[in-house]
Amino acid sequence: MDAAWPPTWPKIAEELYIFDPRGDVLLILERRPEKDMAEYVDEAPKCEDEARPAEYEEPALEEPALDWLQPEPSVEEPQAEEPSPYELDTVEPEAEAEQEKDSTRPGSSVGSISTASCMVKPEIQQVQMRVSSRHLILASATFRAYLGSDKFSEGRTLQTKGNAVVLLADEDPDAMVIVLHIIHGLTRKVPRQVSLEMLSRLAFVVNHRQMHEAVELFSDIWIENLKQNPLPGRYTPEVLSWLFIFWVFQKEDGFRNMSQILERESDHSLEDEADAGPPLPASIIGNIGQNRLYCIESTIQVIYDLITKYSGPEIICCNDRFACDAILLGSLLKRSATIGISPRPKNPYPGMTFKRLAEQIREMQVLDNCGHTSGDGTYYDYINGNGIKDSIEASLRSLEDRMCGLKLESFLPHKTTMKSKCGFF
Ligand SMILES: [Zn+2]
Repeated sequence: MDAAWPPTWPKIAEELYIFDPRGDVLLILERRPEKDMAEYVDEAPKCEDEARPAEYEEPALEEPALDWLQPEPSVEEPQAEEPSPYELDTVEPEAEAEQEKDSTRPGSSVGSISTASCMVKPEIQQVQMRVSSRHLILASATFRAYLGSDKFSEGRTLQTKGNAVVLLADEDPDAMVIVLHIIHGLTRKVPRQVSLEMLSRLAFVVNHRQMHEAVELFSDIWIENLKQNPLPGRYTPEVLSWLFIFWVFQKEDGFRNMSQILERESDHSLEDEADAGPPLPASIIGNIGQNRLYCIESTIQVIYDLITKYSGPEIICCNDRFACDAILLGSLLKRSATIGISPRPKNPYPGMTFKRLAEQIREMQVLDNCGHTSGDGTYYDYINGNGIKDSIEASLRSLEDRMCGLKLESFLPHKTTMKSKCGFF
């Protein structure tokens, strides 16, 4: 038997999920159709009668979640200039009867997700979730701080009135549904397979609400299932998603591999690309960028050290040939200009990646004049002028060995500061 719909709660929304029929907390989230519509049209099962987990294929999280340390506006304390969209005193007597008992079928408009996807309806839609505060508090450190104490008005209301309404306007409703199923023990309703897109959104919610342990069993399953397809072996937009997922769910090897790809293959615009992707800590992106800069700088320095060496007055050539040094120096200078490192480029080396630079340097033609002339006196394109190519190769390999990706233990969530754009932590 369901508990009554508390009279102080807002009217039941079209999209309602009930995770606990006696739940004492009503979470209120928002669905933004203008963002969701295109995705539904492109990817989701369309216009089916049954509300399917179509949302598992949905778009990238792009709304930063609210800062738990900054109490969210309470529905009980609406801003004067911005009235709460929820009319607290307008719960209709028949509301209780309209409640949907099955949490997989969102409320009185079970088809609201799927039928809405067939319409162009730009308004923000409210999504309600009736949940148990005990489950939230047990599973989530942030909910524990929020509802389990009197620090926040919602926690105080819960303690004094026995129920509370919590606004999570910027939280992702679809990822939240999956996570809430897990922490309420409704595991049969939890998908075993999710897309990379959805896993990234789940990681966001899990990290934001600090529910890592509660979902760990499922996050392991999701990751393992997704890894049936090979992980990216080169820099694609998916690398940032995977890096975020491996960071949130603390997978050492994956985190190291993805960060290694970025160290070697990202250019100066990594930060901008990261800003458009999952909310990775600034320290992770910053360290990758620093490693990239260091290795590009060091790679360029390898060539400049040779140029300096052969520019001096002494003869380096093993056969003591001035012409040999001169031709070698000339070829180094000209090839450096060809690949864009002469004149010497400056930090942040726009458009340059370590991987491409190393390839270009390996392909450099370095000439010498030590017994490799043709009959008519012209110079051969000698691939290893005076052993220089071997020396360059050794330097490059040494640098590549150092670009082995970041260590997860240095970036565990409690040690990092989230980027300011996220507005939390
Ligand atoms: Zn020589």
